[in-house]
Amino acid sequence: MTSNILKSSGKQALLIDGKVASASVLERVALEAGSLGVKPGLAVVLVGEDPASQVYVKSKGKAAHSCGFHSVQHDLPVTTTEAELIDLVRRLNDDPAIHGILVQLPLPAGIDTQKVLLTVAPEKDVDGFHPINVGLLATGAIKRALVPCTPAGAMLLIEEATKFLHRDLAGAEAVIVGRSNIVGKPMAQLLLAKNATVTIAHSRTRDLPSVARRADILVAAVGRPEMIRGDWIKPGALVIDVGINRIPAEGLTASGQKKTRLVGDVALDEALAVAGAITPVPGGVGPMTIALLMANTLRAARLAQVL
Ligand code: NDP
Repeated sequence: MTSNILKSSGKQALLIDGKVASASVLERVALEAGSLGVKPGLAVVLVGEDPASQVYVKSKGKAAHSCGFHSVQHDLPVTTTEAELIDLVRRLNDDPAIHGILVQLPLPAGIDTQKVLLTVAPEKDVDGFHPINVGLLATGAIKRALVPCTPAGAMLLIEEATKFLHRDLAGAEAVIVGRSNIVGKPMAQLLLAKNATVTIAHSRTRDLPSVARRADILVAAVGRPEMIRGDWIKPGALVIDVGINRIPAEGLTASGQKKTRLVGDVALDEALAVAGAITPVPGGVGPMTIALLMANTLRAARLAQVL
């Protein structure tokens, strides 16, 4: 990755530029895909018409094209049954031109998400949600696992920032706030694999501010706007804000709607005065997720060549 992802914020903390980092990952993926000898294939399955999901799926298709992948999108009506969806996933499992399968979540009510995700062949599970991949990550077999994209992207930013700040991940105190299967837990496994001393905090943690203040590396994956305040942060800490929260903003849009804006789980302005480096929201961890999805698809295609 390029080393120019850390920039001055004009305050104490450096800003970690996820857009530059993600462009660098995508560039490398496109280059490596070009010399693989086979076109990596990504299938994205969307059930229903959830507007946010439509936006995500569109950007995933765009990124796949930009990397020179074979990219297919399956748009299924909201009335699709679980059996029909599972049948499609099985056909994609058997399709040699497809190396990565992504079923966009959330699925409509009435479809058992776990059952569908379990149907995805582990070697095509580019979201890293299948228990086989979860188990490989948990047992430290990271090289064989497909790792969930958001924590994998956050980990790249952590490694790059740690290097830039001349720090050591080994022995560092890492505190992750949030224990979801998608972000918090895999993030903890990745940091543990790099020999950090890891604490996972959650809604039942006692005295969260003082737990957070222990962290050399503080990862926020909560989903609560600006919950983590400046005085929860150890001076000089590396802060990774995974949260994406939409809150009301001043004024009206051109069409007369109330304006909104995106904020993270960390109060950015306060954190900038204390932290050593921090990912902003938007423009931090967010852009890394799609880049890592492409990197996972490339890995799955490469693994398929040797199987
Ligand atoms: P979940 O809702 O699945 O998990 C949230 C976690 O935060 C839970 O473990 C919960 O604890 C914990 N939590 C909630 N309230 C508190 C509190 N007051 N104090 C301490 N811990 C608390 O969320 P996700 O992990 O899926 O997502 C987290 C954030 O990351 C969201 O803002 C989401 O939008 C964002 N996100 C961003 C992505 C990206 O950048 N592309 C991708 C995925 C997520 P408990 O388990 O005890 O309930």
